[in-house]
Amino acid sequence: MPAAEKKKTVSFAEFLPFSEEHYRVMRRKQVVRLLLMYVAPVAILAAFFLIQYDAIVRESKRLHLQAIAESQANTLELFLSERLVNLSNLIDDPRHEFPPTSEVMEDDLDGLRKNSNAFVDIGFFDSTGVQTSYAGPYPSLEKRNYRQESWYKTLYDDQTGFIITDIYLGFRQRPHFTIAVSRTIDGAFVVLRATLAPEEIYNYLRSQTGSAEAITSIVNQTGNYQLATPRLGTPLEASSFVPPQKPDVGAGEARIDGRYLLYGYSWLQMANWAVIVQPASTDTQAFLSGFRLRIIIISVLFVLFGFVVAVIRARKLVDMQMESDRTRAQLGHAAKLASVGELASGIAHEINNPLAVITEESGLLMDYMDPQFGHTLDENDLHKRLSTIQESAFRCRDITRKLLRFVRRTDFDLQEHDVHDIINGVIDDLLGPEIEVSSIAVERNYDRSLPKLTTDSNQLQQVILNIVNNASDAIGDEQGTITITTSSHGNRVRISIKDTGCGMIQEQLDKVFMPFFTTKEVGKGTGLGLSVSYGIVRGLGGEIEVESTKGVGTTFTLVLPVKQKR
Ligand code: ADP
Ligand code: MG
Repeated sequence: MPAAEKKKTVSFAEFLPFSEEHYRVMRRKQVVRLLLMYVAPVAILAAFFLIQYDAIVRESKRLHLQAIAESQANTLELFLSERLVNLSNLIDDPRHEFPPTSEVMEDDLDGLRKNSNAFVDIGFFDSTGVQTSYAGPYPSLEKRNYRQESWYKTLYDDQTGFIITDIYLGFRQRPHFTIAVSRTIDGAFVVLRATLAPEEIYNYLRSQTGSAEAITSIVNQTGNYQLATPRLGTPLEASSFVPPQKPDVGAGEARIDGRYLLYGYSWLQMANWAVIVQPASTDTQAFLSGFRLRIIIISVLFVLFGFVVAVIRARKLVDMQMESDRTRAQLGHAAKLASVGELASGIAHEINNPLAVITEESGLLMDYMDPQFGHTLDENDLHKRLSTIQESAFRCRDITRKLLRFVRRTDFDLQEHDVHDIINGVIDDLLGPEIEVSSIAVERNYDRSLPKLTTDSNQLQQVILNIVNNASDAIGDEQGTITITTSSHGNRVRISIKDTGCGMIQEQLDKVFMPFFTTKEVGKGTGLGLSVSYGIVRGLGGEIEVESTKGVGTTFTLVLPVKQKR
């Protein structure tokens, strides 16, 4: 056994084959793996729920806002048509005289204000567009000609009989809007118009149900506020956005000051106005509330729980792994001890035989030399017995030599060699005569691009000789082939020696590298060939692989590094 390995076994009292760091990394990896297993699905599910929930909440908010906008628009439209009816009732009253006198106009205005205090003033226009009669706070407007005012022109041209204008400043320089009805009386085009104060309408709208949860504003087609809370803007100011014309009722999102705002809208039929409704409270306040908060808390609890479980599980798993590593290492150690025992009994067994022969032969020789027995020593006989003794002594020496080589790390003589030269040397020079007389064919399957190997050629020859000898023993007297194949794999070289011999069963295969394991008859095999070869190849930084099928054949493969690490 090499010295370094021996030291390692002794210092590892705990029998743990890996360092603390190894297990720490393993634990960390386990935690991550378990977290992915336990926590990731919960997190994904929670995220999915939240996204779905958001979408539903958003959609329902949109629908809600849209509904408020629609109902407010209806309310507003109802209000406006009522005001138009108020005016129509006046102009269509057969008892009403035209053009009216100032007193009549004052009465008319009083009557209108009883219906709604949004009415500011009232005026009557003759066919030339001059306001002939007026009642209200701006008497200076009387006698003015409105022929060029846009609302008058539209009313005159469109022949619809009524008009509701956008909010404008007009002659009086105050935001107001006009509703007017036109008739042809006695062949003359006359107009009765009233102006209304926007604030009153706004207050009216605000008094409607549902308006508390929303901010209402009204814009015209060019995007100017008609009515709005002071927070949003003042009438006639440009609004941040104009809702789309089609569909005339809907909901949307507008980007205002970098924030997305949800709104519902509805265009009026009678006027070119759109009612816009926005939520009264902002979303950010509501973000962590109710259902969403509950889902987040539950998910966080799950994740925490999963984390704790993962850490505990990982610790347990790694502890189990440590325990099994320890047991395996202990078993390995026990196996080593057992093989030392086997080795010792093997040595005893192997050496006992030649020692017995030596004892016996030398005893006999001594008997011959005793004159008491009167034997004469035949020279031939003496020679035969002495050589038997010598043979047995050599055999002992052989065994101890091989043993020493197995036990001691021998120093290698490392040089660059061509692997094929080494193999050829074994086949042609060392085995040549034997192979020639046998019925065994040797095939050489060489990879010509194989790099030169830094190795000990004598030792490597020893190994190859052992394996080829075994192969030829396995084939025996039958016909057979030994195929030697070389190949290169990165910085490793593979030399495989395949025979068509008897092959091995698994039990044999497990023991081939054990010292003194042999299936050959006494005197033929020592069972040291492969164990010595194994030691050499390990010493050269390589590996021996073996594959075998009973009755088919065996392949031994040497895997050797191209360069030696010194
Ligand atoms: P030995 O040749 O002295 O028996 P080895 O260590 O070389 O000792 O081989 C051990 C045993 O492994 C052999 O006795 C044989 O049973 C088996 N073995 C080795 N090589 C082969 C092979 N090519 N085919 C079948 N059996 C083999
Ligand atoms: Mg052998």
